[in-house]
Amino acid sequence: MLPEDMVAQQRVEQAAHEVFARFGYGEIRTPMFERTELFVRGIGEATDIVSKEMYTFDDRGGRSVTLRPEGTAGVVRACLEQNLFKQSPVHKLYYVGPMFRYERPQAGRYREFWQAGIEAFGVSDPLIDAEVLVCAYEFVAALGIKPVEIRLNSIGNEERPAYIEKLKDYIRPRLADLGGRDQERFEANPLRMLDSKDARTREMLADAPKVADHLSSESVEHFEAVRRLLDKSGVPYEVDPYIVRGLDYYTRTVFEITTDGLGAQDAILAGGRYDDLVSEVGGQAVPGIGFAAGLDRLILAMREQDVAIDEGSRHDVYVVTIGDDTRETAFEALTALRRAGMRAEMDHQGRSVRAQMKTANQLRVPYVVVLGEDEIAQQEATVRNMDDQSQETVPLAELASRLSARSNP
Ligand code: ATP
Ligand code: MG
Repeated sequence: MLPEDMVAQQRVEQAAHEVFARFGYGEIRTPMFERTELFVRGIGEATDIVSKEMYTFDDRGGRSVTLRPEGTAGVVRACLEQNLFKQSPVHKLYYVGPMFRYERPQAGRYREFWQAGIEAFGVSDPLIDAEVLVCAYEFVAALGIKPVEIRLNSIGNEERPAYIEKLKDYIRPRLADLGGRDQERFEANPLRMLDSKDARTREMLADAPKVADHLSSESVEHFEAVRRLLDKSGVPYEVDPYIVRGLDYYTRTVFEITTDGLGAQDAILAGGRYDDLVSEVGGQAVPGIGFAAGLDRLILAMREQDVAIDEGSRHDVYVVTIGDDTRETAFEALTALRRAGMRAEMDHQGRSVRAQMKTANQLRVPYVVVLGEDEIAQQEATVRNMDDQSQETVPLAELASRLSARSNP
């Protein structure tokens, strides 16, 4: 990512820091790689991520390590290792960082990509499901991305194995007609067939038993409460019985957010509740819910939708020198300007005044400071206002304070 790419990247990262903090989440940074075992246990052997997308290798000590393919497992591992859940089960954390998956690279799908996500631990109440969803919505909305389509579902918890059996009973006699990939899924992860992109599979599943009709009364109540809270918050969503999510660890609430202009890679954020993940990884039963947003896709969507990304003026002032003997005084002035908080620059190659002015114009600085031998003899500088081309003479000692007062009134 070059500096011009980083303008959008920083904007998205800053929105994550700002919005997540407003919702009461604190930042956590976990290592870029973990023991392979953590992901295999946490994410699940039958998932796409673990079965074919991980960057796994042995380190010099012969331990199998994996570049993190997602953020949640590492956060859970860190919380357990730091005994956070012993102090209190409730922790609200967020992360921003790169993730790694061995996928086929294409538009919106990379082998190294960025995610920002939040995790709320220790709360079973549907209020927290709604909080996480409202936070997701506000984050995407803060970036100016429209439309924000939230698809929501509940996949239950203890009742899910019985539902999966019903689903398999429905699919089994129709299995021979399906593509090889979905046949594999039938064995390894039948629930995943519900979000298959294969048209044949989708058609076949139109009349399949729906998980919503097989939820326990507790799960139904939970889901209804989440929906009520979203309605009250004015967050638009659609219930989509085919959203099941790819990871094993989800329970009850699952969701995805999509937007326009991204082609097949239109999912910009996804998440759900994971009440069994913490106990799976470390013993203690601590409920959790969270989401991860794909920053690269958010940026693609912003560009696609012509969201104005403030490139800002990357320089406030350019110092032009006339003659070699003025360069050291110019450097002093430059340092004073920078110390006063201004983005100040000068020429480093001893170029002509014409070339320096050309650079100043290209940088679109609001002010140019001109230093010639006459000015220096008087301990003064000429300040040119680039908007109206007016000029004035300013004592060198006052240059930084006067210009910074004008730039940050
Ligand atoms: P997809 O269905 O597109 O493969 P996923 O279900 O694998 O997505 P999650 O694991 O839920 O994605 O990750 C959350 C978000 O991270 C996605 O919605 C997407 O925006 C982003 N993301 C996932 N994989 C990639 C990737 N390889 N490159 C860029 N962004 C990604
Ligand atoms: Mg994927």
